[in-house]
Amino acid sequence: MNTAEILQRLTEDNIQYLWVIYHDYSGRSCAKAVPPHRFATVFERGIVFARANVDFNLLDHMAPGSAFTAETGDVLAVGDPASYAPLPYRQASGRVHAFLRDMDGSEWPGCPRTRLDHMVRAYAQRGLTIRVGFEPEFMLFRRTEEGEYVTSDRDGMFTVAGLDRHYALWLEVMETLKTMGVQLEQLGKEYGPGQYEATPVSTGPFKAVDDYLTFKEVVRALARQAGWIASFMPKPYAHMPGSGLHVHMSLWDAEGKRDLSCGERPEEPLSQLGRHFLGGLLAHAAALTAVGAPIVNSYKRLLPGSWSPAHICWGVGSRAALVRIPGMGARRHLEFRSGDNACNPYMFLTALLAAGLDGIEQQIEPPPAVTDDVGALTDEQARARGLALLPRSLDEALSALEADPVVTAALGPVITSEFIKVKRSELTDYNLHVHPWERHLYLESI
Ligand code: GLU
Ligand code: MG
Repeated sequence: MNTAEILQRLTEDNIQYLWVIYHDYSGRSCAKAVPPHRFATVFERGIVFARANVDFNLLDHMAPGSAFTAETGDVLAVGDPASYAPLPYRQASGRVHAFLRDMDGSEWPGCPRTRLDHMVRAYAQRGLTIRVGFEPEFMLFRRTEEGEYVTSDRDGMFTVAGLDRHYALWLEVMETLKTMGVQLEQLGKEYGPGQYEATPVSTGPFKAVDDYLTFKEVVRALARQAGWIASFMPKPYAHMPGSGLHVHMSLWDAEGKRDLSCGERPEEPLSQLGRHFLGGLLAHAAALTAVGAPIVNSYKRLLPGSWSPAHICWGVGSRAALVRIPGMGARRHLEFRSGDNACNPYMFLTALLAAGLDGIEQQIEPPPAVTDDVGALTDEQARARGLALLPRSLDEALSALEADPVVTAALGPVITSEFIKVKRSELTDYNLHVHPWERHLYLESI
């Protein structure tokens, strides 16, 4: 769609306010709403945001040592017409996702959407296209007057009761997504209390990211309207299942017609190309986990025995493995399972594709598949089998990212350095806090 076509479409849809959205390094959707006389500017020149916005952490404080500050000026958010969708739940409003550009219109290396574009082109140069689906899990809560969070229900995993209890909300979510061009594969009740999960149809990388971001915003907005808090936090309570973001990927020929990553025989789940892609994912697993699971809380989800991966390994059917190969025939693909919804999906997908490409280029062979529940192994048993653990903390994960030349090169120097500063600043704040657990254990015992 060119500018004239998108402007025509906005008129047809009677859009009076266009939300121009970019995503910061914490994955937050950040936006300004603009009226029609600014629509052409959104697509031609872009609208300004402070460059320093990317250096704010989730506390909404600037990370110490930020490269960008009060005096480093602005970047331009240029709407990508391909990402346009109306917002059926908001009167006369629509949204576009934006590329961040420098003030002279040139590429800005701090833009996550641009970094993904580079990575997709690197695959295209090798005659490869990518099919992706993001599968988020999330939980519904309400907040009591005392400020406690209570889960929405106790319905069992994938029960009809669980699907039916809040069906008015899910129906509205599914209808809204359909109007916004997001096709779901399925939506159902997950394992934990108040926990749900949806799978959008796998598609090209940009549409996959756009669809996932749309899903998250729609669920949060419509749940809020219905009196619920939809939370995508990785591990709200230690005794309940965590919420992951599993990324489903496969590699196809240039026309997107022939699956090149999977094996042609049922007993051979991956092709040679797929095996090397997998080898790359496993070789860079620690750095990938920093990008995909980037908050303190993420590491309370990634525990053995929780169906969230804790070891660097792969398996065909095993939900304890970091990479699983689900599906049969043309639906077969690779599923990377350590990420969660605290990530910026552009950055996470860029990192995953960079790791896979490194595997292809270096012809990295993966180790043998695991066939048992590795989550049930003791640390000694895992070590004896040569199974490395994923990073056990955000600190460890960020150090692994710093040490990974492939993943950091794909993200580029601006995103890498500022992401690490932002995340380390949250970690410092966490470390300086005295948590309720400490008072419970130590106040009287010491
Ligand atoms: N909730 C699990 C996770 O945190 C995944 C459960 C599943 O296999 O769907 O990754
Ligand atoms: Mg699930």
